[in-house]
Amino acid sequence: MFSIHGTGIGGGIVIGRARVLESRRFDVARYHVPSAGIEAEVVRLDKALEAVRGELGALGEHLSDDAPSEARALLEVHAMILDDPQLAQAARDDIVEQGWNAEWALASQADSLAAQFDEFEDAYLRERGRDVQQVADRVLKSLAGSGGNIPCVGEPAIIVAADIAPGDMLALRSALGFAIDLGGTTSHTAILARSMNVPAVVGLNRASELILDDEWLILDGETGVVIVAPDEPVLAEYRHRQAASRLERDKLKRLLNVPARTLDGVDVELHANIELPGEAEQARESGAAGIGLFRSEFLFMNRAELPGEDEQYEAYRAAVLAMRGLPVTIRTLDVGADKPLEQHASGSIMNPALGQRAIRYCLAEPEMFLAQLRAILRASAHGPVRLLVPMLVHAHEIDQTIRLVAQARQRLRERRIPFDERMPVGGMIEVPAAALSVSLFLRRLDFVSIGTNDLIQYTLAIDRADHSVAQLYDPFHPAVLRLIAMTIRAGRRLNKPVAVCGELAGDRTATRLLLGMGLSEFSMHPASLLLVKREILLADVSRIAPRVSRLLGSDDPERVGSALKRLLEDTHPGQRASAQRSTPG
Ligand code: PEP
Ligand code: MG
Repeated sequence: MFSIHGTGIGGGIVIGRARVLESRRFDVARYHVPSAGIEAEVVRLDKALEAVRGELGALGEHLSDDAPSEARALLEVHAMILDDPQLAQAARDDIVEQGWNAEWALASQADSLAAQFDEFEDAYLRERGRDVQQVADRVLKSLAGSGGNIPCVGEPAIIVAADIAPGDMLALRSALGFAIDLGGTTSHTAILARSMNVPAVVGLNRASELILDDEWLILDGETGVVIVAPDEPVLAEYRHRQAASRLERDKLKRLLNVPARTLDGVDVELHANIELPGEAEQARESGAAGIGLFRSEFLFMNRAELPGEDEQYEAYRAAVLAMRGLPVTIRTLDVGADKPLEQHASGSIMNPALGQRAIRYCLAEPEMFLAQLRAILRASAHGPVRLLVPMLVHAHEIDQTIRLVAQARQRLRERRIPFDERMPVGGMIEVPAAALSVSLFLRRLDFVSIGTNDLIQYTLAIDRADHSVAQLYDPFHPAVLRLIAMTIRAGRRLNKPVAVCGELAGDRTATRLLLGMGLSEFSMHPASLLLVKREILLADVSRIAPRVSRLLGSDDPERVGSALKRLLEDTHPGQRASAQRSTPG
């Protein structure tokens, strides 16, 4: 028995046999083709490229309606790579000019293209190098005459692989789990595993070499641990944990229609974060009281052309209609740093997170921004919409945004296109400067929403996508907590709504703390909604608030840490059990 540690992508615990997929790379034959055979060799390569084009097309056509929404976009990325002249044409040139065989020509061009991606500091762009290798592997399989399909994996198993192409992931929907050598939290593999709701661990380095086919595995998607050939006591322990977590999930479902109200009667709004309009339905079914964050940038990524006003309007309207009268908070384009646009690559910029991100980019591209503002305003004719602007820092950025919103409204009035004249406009608090001058924001805006993911990154100077400093990314650092508390307090003082929509809102260990700071609107991944709701049902704000304000008075991390621990553990005697018993079945 031994264990391997990587990055958990979620999905719970799974126990099953390993199915180790063949190595991502093949032994690539390398030889010179006689000059008489060069033309035929180019034709052989072109046929393989054509076959893979067909495979990708067929995968796209056969995507089921419930396929993850990212799947189609990923297939499109692979099709684009396949036709990239730096791959296909460069390989043809190598055959013609150097006389190499098709396999070697293609593999070496793929390696050099992937190496260019590896140079990027940006984690998202580095991941694209893997896509190049995955596309090349498909072509190599086709050249070898084996076709590009994933081998039949028989009965459900935990798939172990160096890497899995997105198209192949889709063919593995019945997998129990994924243990993958490569990738980080922004890799396509991680994105797909999350949307398929299959437990997964990525970044395991050499799992595919160390694990043997058919070996028993325990994979914990929460902690990122894979235990290989577990002995009986460990198996028993994890079976127990697995059963307990299933039971807990089932029990939680009883809370679906219970109002999110604390023991002392404070009503809390629980909203959902979504990336694409198709996710709104699931958010509503998970009991969300609205969408607290629709990250619109996902409509803009992985494509050559930006979506125009009409296409965006359709997408926003779809989310609004799916929410059937519940509010939808649409955030304007937040690109840059770890979310680059094809048209706005930031690879050569030293500090993209401090560069032309989000609102800075939008204000530099007013026509594009105005089209988005009009699309969002038009969607507001179909149900309650709130507009949320990311990464604001300066008063003049807020003023300029408000002027552009007025301009977009005016244009719609002139064109007699309906929209909600009173659509609220809010800003995200995700930079310390914004939290420290929050009244400036609250005086100009209708509401604010705290983006803790970036607020932590910018307060602690920790790149949120960099694994090497991940252990320093501390959401409970006293400085971070004070900035959050300060923002919530200011909102109450000026009577303007304040929400939290970063990951901290979905972390049940932070629920009491946030309630104690006076927060009453949380927005999170739909899967966390009921867990957080349970914490709310068990909390008594009148008891928690004084403790939280004492805790905020200390800047000693150890004291804060132990006060937080006590806050989490402390419940009224028997309260947890009785609250669970009293929830309707
Ligand atoms: C945040 O920064 O907390 C946030 C919600 O925005 P994103 O994660 O999209 O940067
Ligand atoms: Mg952010």
